[in-house]
Amino acid sequence: MKTDYQTIQVEINQGVAILRLNNPPVNQLSKPFVEEMKDALISAYGDNEIQVVILTGTEKNFIAGADITEIQQVKERGSILPLVMENNKFLNSIEQGPKPVIAAINGNCLGGGLEIAMACHYRIAAKGIQVGQPEVQIGLIPGAGGTQRLPRLVGLPDALKMIATGQAISAEEGLKKGCIDEVVPLESLLSKAFEAAQRFLSGTLNHRDRMTRSRKDQLPNFVMKKMIISYAREEAAKKGKGYIAPFKAIEAMERGLSNDFEADLRIEAELFSDCAVSEVAKNLIGIFLNTRAAGKLPRIKGIEPQKIRTVGMLGGGTMGSGIVNLLLNHGFKTILWDINEEAIQKGISAIRKTFAYPIKIGKMTQEDLDRKIQDHLTTTTSLDDMKGADLIIEAVLEDMNIKQGIWKKLQEVCRSEVTFATNTSALPITEMASVLKDPGRMIGLHFFNPAERMQLLEIICGKKTSDQTLATSVAFGRAIRKVPIVVNDGPGFYVSRQLGAFMGESTFMVGEGEDPALIEEAVVDFGMPMGPATLGDLTGLDINYHVVKNFEKSLGERWQMSPIYKLIYQTGCYGRKTGAGWYDYSGEKPIPNPKLQEVIHQYLKEKGIKPKKSSQKEIIERMLARAINEAAYMIQDQICDRPQDMDLAIIYGLGFPPYRGGILRYADTWGIRNVYEHLLKLEQEHGVRFKPAPLLKEMAESGRTFYLGF
Ligand code: NAD
Repeated sequence: MKTDYQTIQVEINQGVAILRLNNPPVNQLSKPFVEEMKDALISAYGDNEIQVVILTGTEKNFIAGADITEIQQVKERGSILPLVMENNKFLNSIEQGPKPVIAAINGNCLGGGLEIAMACHYRIAAKGIQVGQPEVQIGLIPGAGGTQRLPRLVGLPDALKMIATGQAISAEEGLKKGCIDEVVPLESLLSKAFEAAQRFLSGTLNHRDRMTRSRKDQLPNFVMKKMIISYAREEAAKKGKGYIAPFKAIEAMERGLSNDFEADLRIEAELFSDCAVSEVAKNLIGIFLNTRAAGKLPRIKGIEPQKIRTVGMLGGGTMGSGIVNLLLNHGFKTILWDINEEAIQKGISAIRKTFAYPIKIGKMTQEDLDRKIQDHLTTTTSLDDMKGADLIIEAVLEDMNIKQGIWKKLQEVCRSEVTFATNTSALPITEMASVLKDPGRMIGLHFFNPAERMQLLEIICGKKTSDQTLATSVAFGRAIRKVPIVVNDGPGFYVSRQLGAFMGESTFMVGEGEDPALIEEAVVDFGMPMGPATLGDLTGLDINYHVVKNFEKSLGERWQMSPIYKLIYQTGCYGRKTGAGWYDYSGEKPIPNPKLQEVIHQYLKEKGIKPKKSSQKEIIERMLARAINEAAYMIQDQICDRPQDMDLAIIYGLGFPPYRGGILRYADTWGIRNVYEHLLKLEQEHGVRFKPAPLLKEMAESGRTFYLGF
């Protein structure tokens, strides 16, 4: 057979052709790579010496999914369908081919990778690897037979679970469920695959009997199928509001899984095409690609990050304990400092609590945690013990004097190349760094609560933060599996200011007679995880009050606080922590807080304001217009300059619905001119708060958009 390929290494051994797939970096199914695979298989089929083919990957990867940038570029539904059907022919040619093909799965096997493996006649996987169909996470469904082959192997309920949620399972689970035939240690993968090849050669296994398309034993009868599908729809409806793909995937299995496999593939291909041209898929693919690119800034290109092995954590409170969880989970030696032994003990028990959930669901054991703490965590009340650290993260009280005092001392203790990171929510990084001899070593690493779970890491550069400090911080952010978004210093940095503009507008509406419950409903229906009242009660209305006061002081008249918010603050009802805020939490279920309702009622009465009922659209567009405008001001003020990153920050940090792509993606879809004109109208009605940013005016006039203009 032919052996010279760019992306495939061919080895022939006693009638078995081993095709090692090697398309760096992750064996993504790009067009040229697939063409070579096809060619190599045809060549192997045509060679009488070869009886069995083994497909395996090189290094860590088996086969990753399709190249989604190719999908992203397709605009017309009509041009996708033939491509999908053509690809199906390739997989069919494996499944119905003249010789057995074994998938020796050496690494994660997701999306198109699993679809190819399922078209093979035997799947042997290395221990611990993941298999799955994650397409829904980028707004698609499996488009190469996944919705039709997986249920035939694992049964409909498990296939629905895997495909409609996109969750992967381990090879071991795959073995139990039926999509994997054998799990072996990685070192013996090929020798075991070779043994399986011998079983085909001896006739113990027959590849014609092992075609996934012919399997029926796992498929439910008509009545069961109806019940299972209807349950899956209900489950998807609970979580999938605004999404398309989970429902299309369910439909593919509902209408497919028949006796006519080719017709089933056709149904899948049609539904795949519907998804591929949808705005939701474009948004989700955009987010996926932008997430990979987050933190890759020209400013730090080529700079080697400092190696971080030991991290000094200052403070084991709410934030510190969550950050230590991340450090331990990602193998960093951690030195926890706190003010006294009592604070340290509190910190340790808070750290243990952050692991309660993974222990509860069996992801780790109590012994694993004890070992992690024993091996990786030391504690101290002396800052002198920080001298061995490569990075210091500070999460002590929000007080500039206290923080600066600590840094002054630490610069005497630590090596000069050690990065100093503060987790302050709002104190200026530039001012904090001013006490250092070398302010370039300081940076803001703004984690979100709960730090061990929230994916966003807002990285804030002070005026003098060095490129080296930034490069090290971005690399560290990646190492603890966060999405690092880099912004510049300024009031509220990016995320708090963006949130303040978006959610903060709701209080003004309440002061105009709008029902808070209807605002809450509009925001949740739009796709946010919670409305402004619930969120305010969670963060604390006192904290929000001080944040806005700070904006009022530093950002001027556009940020005047709503008069009604001052009155609400004066009630002392600060949210959950005081038992009541917008809601009263004393009963079984939260109810609107009568005390606040009375304050609002009195205010409206005194001002002679009548109750008002805007539509959900009016409410949302008003909040969004203000948010988009603030984003434009922030670009102008050079707080941030990458709209893609700004959108990621509000998706990962504030739960903005991913299928909508983000605030700025939304602005582009809405039309910048429309946004601008809406702002002018709102400015006339409500004043300076809506004064359009000059940048937005310029964009409206020039036709520039956020995504294409920067
Ligand atoms: P916390 O009150 O839970 O913990 C404060 C820590 O500071 C404790 O370890 C405490 O022992 C220590 N401490 C107390 N007095 C001290 C003193 N005089 N000198 C030095 N340390 C002292 O607070 P937190 O919520 O973990 O916040 C810590 C930092 O993180 C703050 O700067 C805060 O603004 C920021 N932050 C908080 C959140 C949040 O949601 N809680 C989110 C992002 C950032």
